[in-house]
Amino acid sequence: MKVLAILYDGGKAAREEPRLLGTVENELGLREFLESRGHEFIVSSDKDGPDSFFEKHIVDAEVLITTPFHPGYLTADLVEKAKELKICITAGVGSDHIDLDAAVTKKIQVLEVSGSNVVSVAEHVVMSILLLVRNFVPAHEMIERGDWQVSEIARNAFDLEGKVVGTIGAGRIGYRVLQRLLPFDCKELLYYDYAPLPADAAKAVRARRVEDLKEFVSQCDLVTVNCPLHDGTRGLVNAELLKHFKKGAWLVNTARGAICDKDAVAAAVKSGQLNGYAGDVWNVQPAPKDHVWRQMKNPLGGGNGMTPHYSGTTLDAQARYAAGTKSILQNFFTGKEQEPGNVIVGLGKYETKAYGQH
Ligand code: NAD
Repeated sequence: MKVLAILYDGGKAAREEPRLLGTVENELGLREFLESRGHEFIVSSDKDGPDSFFEKHIVDAEVLITTPFHPGYLTADLVEKAKELKICITAGVGSDHIDLDAAVTKKIQVLEVSGSNVVSVAEHVVMSILLLVRNFVPAHEMIERGDWQVSEIARNAFDLEGKVVGTIGAGRIGYRVLQRLLPFDCKELLYYDYAPLPADAAKAVRARRVEDLKEFVSQCDLVTVNCPLHDGTRGLVNAELLKHFKKGAWLVNTARGAICDKDAVAAAVKSGQLNGYAGDVWNVQPAPKDHVWRQMKNPLGGGNGMTPHYSGTTLDAQARYAAGTKSILQNFFTGKEQEPGNVIVGLGKYETKAYGQH
């Protein structure tokens, strides 16, 4: 079979660090596994536009492997052209870069390595919460500049203790965030999700569900976004919803950039309606050099905790999603049943409730 993988360029780092498995150089460690079984394996980072490697080879590839970190966008148009495609595997978690409805129609299966990086992301969320609340980034920048003016930092630094924190989405990542926040003695932990947590799981993290989104955000000092991107969440955090946030709330989004309206978030940070925004996901990746989220600042010159998309691609996570990708391939080649939790789209239907209510 022809197996096409779109991965990110690792360059010097990947040549020096073989555990950077999710790179073009290290090919998820799959080459020998695939070639020894007689499959053709082609790998590239060149993914955008009609002349790209991706668009050239998708027409007769039978297996597509992508990652959310450098997404090969499989649009409905490309699904139409991908006449031989049988399975899309996301090496990681989050398959919104695949047109899932088109995959349902064309009976192309879509699988991801569920759970492979959920701890990695939950840790990044907790770090981002702390760096915003404690005003860490401007404090560090001050030190690098050679300055020392404690009051300039302390005037916008707080404790997480006593704050109300809420997650939009309480699935694998959202729940792990709640678990990790428990020892911080927040005033309350809230969640908003159409799928309620089992009663004992909610009790274990002392989380209260709020069913109305506006009411939910109006109660939170900090909101973290941990749901997939789909039709029901694209642009969910927009100018209208931001008006219902507490003045000076913080927002952390490591789920998908397009869940938050880019310009509305930048305007809210600039005006101080949001005291800060942090995360690692962008509406287009790689993010253009002039993307407004790179430079946005609150009125006191802080409140930006943006990084490139790497929370779910720690070396620990890469080992897990590379192994998970191999096991999905093995099941596919041998006709063995896939782990049910990994199947997003089965043959002609959604197998998960996480990508909207179908
Ligand atoms: P999951 O499927 O375990 O949980 C998702 C939860 O979101 C579910 O409980 C679902 O009911 C809920 N949800 C869906 N639509 C919703 C809506 N409209 N409002 C409220 N809740 C909604 O998924 P997960 O493993 O927790 O991952 C969540 C997302 O995080 C992924 O889909 C991906 O986009 C993102 N992610 C990012 C990285 C990264 O590196 N930054 C890594 C992994 C995952």
